[in-house]
Amino acid sequence: MNENQEASLLAQVPHGLFIGGEWRAASSGRTLDVTDPSTGRTIKTIADATPADGMAALDAADAAFPAWSRTPARERAEMLRRTYDLLMEREEEFALLMTMEMGKPLAEARREVAYGGEFLRWFSEETVRVQGRYGSNPEGTGRMIVTQHPVGPCFLITPWNFPLAMATRKVGPALAAGCTVVIKPAALTPLSTMFFVKLLEEAGLPKGVVNVVTTSESGALSEPIIRDPRLRKLSFTGSTPVGQSLMAQAAHGVLRTSMELGGNAPFVVFDDADLDRAVDGAIAAKFRNIGQACTAGNRFIVQRGVVEEFTRRVTERVKTFTMGRGTESGVDIGPLIDDRAVAKAVQLVDDALARGATLRTGGHATAREGTFFEPTVISDVQPGSDILREEIFGPVLAIVAFDDEHDAVRIANDTEYGLISYVYTENLARGQRMIERLETGMMGLNTGVVSNAAAPFGGWKMSGLGREGGAEGIHEYLQSKYTLTPDPFV
Ligand code: NAD
Repeated sequence: MNENQEASLLAQVPHGLFIGGEWRAASSGRTLDVTDPSTGRTIKTIADATPADGMAALDAADAAFPAWSRTPARERAEMLRRTYDLLMEREEEFALLMTMEMGKPLAEARREVAYGGEFLRWFSEETVRVQGRYGSNPEGTGRMIVTQHPVGPCFLITPWNFPLAMATRKVGPALAAGCTVVIKPAALTPLSTMFFVKLLEEAGLPKGVVNVVTTSESGALSEPIIRDPRLRKLSFTGSTPVGQSLMAQAAHGVLRTSMELGGNAPFVVFDDADLDRAVDGAIAAKFRNIGQACTAGNRFIVQRGVVEEFTRRVTERVKTFTMGRGTESGVDIGPLIDDRAVAKAVQLVDDALARGATLRTGGHATAREGTFFEPTVISDVQPGSDILREEIFGPVLAIVAFDDEHDAVRIANDTEYGLISYVYTENLARGQRMIERLETGMMGLNTGVVSNAAAPFGGWKMSGLGREGGAEGIHEYLQSKYTLTPDPFV
């Protein structure tokens, strides 16, 4: 890609707030800059919404709700499907835009466009499959009718690490269910969402059904929206501390909430694993998205008989990685999102080394422009190290050894998080025992990547509430009503 292509793409991306079907400036006239983390340079200046703009967006979502919720399911489905088709036509532009604002290598950005698009296609198919129930009560005195209804206007808050897929994973099921939305993307990476919303507009979405607000003041803008009685649902993806504070605010209106929060995934490799598969899976689970995924392997827990061989092989692979701007061909590792992310990786690695871990490769921030941290492997990580407790969110693969299955389960479950676990074993019974013993909402059994629009994505424990995707996803935006009517023959 050359600079002219990048500039002409950026010129097509809207820079305003999208409220009631109109792109407009912030009421204060204020703007915020979006930067490319591989260079630190501003790539686009966009509107910086005030709390009043946030309320205007909620007004629009509320006004559009009655008509949208009564729009035939088939029409809503076709709207989503048209948007999916438009997205696929422009896959390459979306991938480039995402790489520019977030930093992931272009090949990974293309995979995110495909993954993100699947939520539109999947939920276009689910739209027409929402069903109720009709039947006799056990006493035989009446008929029980159960119907499904959209919950109402929703507020969707998304993080910076998957700038497109986190938006489609929420907007898809919300529109499918008949809800209207206000979406607030992260200020670090709002452009993919704004470009996606432009596609919804092109697909003919009625005014006010989707509204977008970008802001540097997330807390101040969000709180009045969450406290407004017209809002009926809050769906959040982001860090656990912010999720906790939003749940406390949502308690005020007893809002439905979906919370996709942080992770601290154990990646367990038994002596009887297929080591080729385990190494491939480890590389994918750790270095996808430069380690900045809630599903990233955080603690590589490897049985003593294979730990040295596993460590040697992952280290060899990591040494071959090329770091650079994600738009350049052959790049495996892009920049971290900002300086804070680099400082955190430095702190976690330094703490682990100070407590006795061994550095196998990498381990440092780089001097080049942009916010880069070397792909890193550390082994012999000692209990009590911060890196075992905290979400790393960077390209650092940390290895600890274990002795037996009981030990592996204990170490893996020793965290307040419970999003995902990975297990490598060729022993079927052991694999089944691990499915039942590990306290996570998802598991990769002999695979390092599990995300799929057809599957229920979500966590246990402090990793969250609710599920996105799968048959479950649409029900997060529906509420049931039970009606009893007397037996018509009596
Ligand atoms: P974050 O919590 O800092 O921000 C997430 C979103 O919340 C952003 O849009 C941000 O602007 C907004 N926000 C921040 N403070 C707010 C407040 N007080 N009120 C309202 N909104 C507020 O998280 P992040 O750094 O953008 O994302 C990384 C985190 O997201 C990691 O912990 C990661 O594990 C998690 N994540 C989870 C999933 C999942 O599906 N479980 C997926 C992706 C990311």
